[in-house]
Amino acid sequence: MSTPAPRPGLSSLAGYYSPQVTASVRLNSNESPVAPPDSFVEKLKNALDQISLHRYPDRQVNALREALADREGVLPSEIFCANGSDEVLQSLFLAYGGPGRSVLIFEPTYALHSEIARITGTQVITAERSDGFTLSEEIVSAAITSHQPDIVMLCSPNNPTGLTEPVEALRAALDSSALVLVDEAYGQFASYRAHDVVDPTDRERLVAIHTFSKTWALAGLRLGYAVAPSPVVENLELVAMPYHLSSITQRAGLLALEGQGEMEARVLTLKEERQRIEDAMAPLAVKVWPSEANFILFRPTTLVSNDVWQGLLDRSVLVRNFSDWPRLDGCLRVTVGTPEENEAFITALREVVGQ
Ligand code: PMP
Repeated sequence: MSTPAPRPGLSSLAGYYSPQVTASVRLNSNESPVAPPDSFVEKLKNALDQISLHRYPDRQVNALREALADREGVLPSEIFCANGSDEVLQSLFLAYGGPGRSVLIFEPTYALHSEIARITGTQVITAERSDGFTLSEEIVSAAITSHQPDIVMLCSPNNPTGLTEPVEALRAALDSSALVLVDEAYGQFASYRAHDVVDPTDRERLVAIHTFSKTWALAGLRLGYAVAPSPVVENLELVAMPYHLSSITQRAGLLALEGQGEMEARVLTLKEERQRIEDAMAPLAVKVWPSEANFILFRPTTLVSNDVWQGLLDRSVLVRNFSDWPRLDGCLRVTVGTPEENEAFITALREVVGQ
């Protein structure tokens, strides 16, 4: 007797790989280093008393979509919510990808983009970024002309490089007939987001994807959303499970939005800390890519990167090791943490790579 085989192709999927190693300073997964404010937790506890857990949640997610629409300056019909931006992406690929359809992905980028595409049976067309990990109008236009993808995937700022996609690259993508997905998980750390630079009249094929996992300090909640044209949202609703967003998640999202001021203050502090880390790294034997996100990509220039990663871990500082990944040869990525955590990272890095 053997267990039945899964559908063809499933065993070739890589799955999500991010080792959970024990360390006292964890700067490996781009979360907020601080918990949401006490006032939020208090309000959520009180809200639990009012939620009818024996009833299904609001299937249309009306209140949360209205609040998000208000925040984004769009209509509620232009908002789609799901359990984390990964699930938003999965819904987009279910609706616009699938067998016989393709997505153009510029590598290196967030590994889940191609993984979700494959899970949904979407053909992945890989294109290369320039040596500096950036995109240009020419790179995007040429790849679209030769492959005619149904979906173009951008990530701004891009994970793990930290670079914002140039406006010309975005415009070149929007100039095609593809649906253009811009993953803006780190958008609030950047100098602009897609909706800041694309006129409302040019947004028929633009989908921006956001998350509560980073700036809103709610990675454990699992809440993300897309800002998309209403017809796209209607199609996403066709592939989403009924009642997929729990009453608790919906209420928690609404309550989180009441703390906009605290969120903005958190973003500001993290950006200042990012600058401080970059300044401290500048004289060290590492190449640093300028980041517009809450993490920094760097490459040791004199030592073996795996040894540097281990040296940091020996000092109980965990960063993300990309050194064996294609196109990211020798690269490590550190998440901006609390001032104390960042200090621990800087001290450890100085010790490991030498002053
Ligand atoms: N997009 C990018 C670029 C990310 O880095 C991440 C998280 N690592 C996600 C999406 C997924 O975020 P969420 O927690 O909202 O699913």
